[in-house]
Amino acid sequence: MKTERMAVTHLGEHPKDYLNAVVPPVFLNSLHVFDCYEDYKNREETGSFVYGRDGNPTVEILEQKVAALEEGAAGIAFASGMAAASAAILATCRAGSHIICMRDVYQPIKNILRQYLLPNLDMSVSFWDGLDLQKLEGMITEKTSLILLESPATFVFTVTDLCGVAEIAGRHGVKTYLDNTYCTPLYQKPLTMGIDIVMHTMSKYIGGHSDMIGGILVVKDGKLGERIKHTIRELFGGILGPMEAWLAIRGLRTLPLRLEKHQETAMEVASFLENHGRVRKVFYPSLKSHPQAELIAKQQKGNTGLLSFVLKGEPEEAIRVIDRLKVFQIGCSWGGFESLALCPLMEYTKEDLQFLNLDEGCRGLIRIYCGLEGADVLIDDLRQALS
Ligand SMILES: *Cc1c(COP(=O)(O)O)cnc(C)c1O
Repeated sequence: MKTERMAVTHLGEHPKDYLNAVVPPVFLNSLHVFDCYEDYKNREETGSFVYGRDGNPTVEILEQKVAALEEGAAGIAFASGMAAASAAILATCRAGSHIICMRDVYQPIKNILRQYLLPNLDMSVSFWDGLDLQKLEGMITEKTSLILLESPATFVFTVTDLCGVAEIAGRHGVKTYLDNTYCTPLYQKPLTMGIDIVMHTMSKYIGGHSDMIGGILVVKDGKLGERIKHTIRELFGGILGPMEAWLAIRGLRTLPLRLEKHQETAMEVASFLENHGRVRKVFYPSLKSHPQAELIAKQQKGNTGLLSFVLKGEPEEAIRVIDRLKVFQIGCSWGGFESLALCPLMEYTKEDLQFLNLDEGCRGLIRIYCGLEGADVLIDDLRQALS
């Protein structure tokens, strides 16, 4: 706890290097200059900043903070969560690689696989339910390079056994990747459970104010970190901008306080919904009714502001309910100050739902994000929309 509080406040910052300014500046320069050619020649040995696509002082402060929070060897920041995710795939896979992907990971990650990596790089993918470890081990082939995970995943909050997956992957020399955006580094530390690469989109909780797009990878192995930084980020060119890094540093300072509030609010809202006569089922990882409650208690320190529920009756009723909400706005993201609602599965085909092992009733899944307006305000809003 103490090291986490120091990481979000002071770690990585050196006020003496910037005129004793208490907040590190946004280093908007695209390059750094040298006193003499000799210094330029020795730039790598001295670890100097050279050019903005390779590294930036504001970005580096952020990377050190998130790496410390995840207990990793290095953090590498990217222009978006998707840029970070694709960098992780490029760094660990090659043409012809086989990837195992947990079936409820963030949809655009599955789209990279289906629309780009499979047709263009001759890769193959097997989708896994995230639950059956024996099945997972059975899917591993000689070509398997990477296992893509997200836990908890953000529709019905399926959780996967991180230690269990890491143990199997380690025995077969396969790398593991986990999208830890939902828990943030404060509520789950996958690297300490054997996962190789953690991804956060900072567009959600780390930025925290719905005013930036950014992503970051944290790795356990420094060598893999160097490869991601120099071979992938530097050459493909996806570094985070300095202004966004500055916003993420500011977001981090209040992350522990915001998460506490999001969690408290979401739990009150989830309990209200669970006791409401029109609600068939609530999905929130802190509820005792979650089928994996024991595993969640073992590997997570908490949960955050996103949850979902299904109404009794016709799926289309969900649209009427979210249209009646006044405080919750209709929108697809989460992690900011503002509460949001969406029916993310409404457009799904029967096959899409079956793929996720969800029944037809789940088409009307309402996903809500509890912002910082307070539980009383949000419950009043839900009560009037459901009445
Ligand atoms: C939003 C999101 C992403 C993608 O992040 P971007 O910064 O929008 O590219 C990845 N994973 C999860 C779980 C997300 O919610």
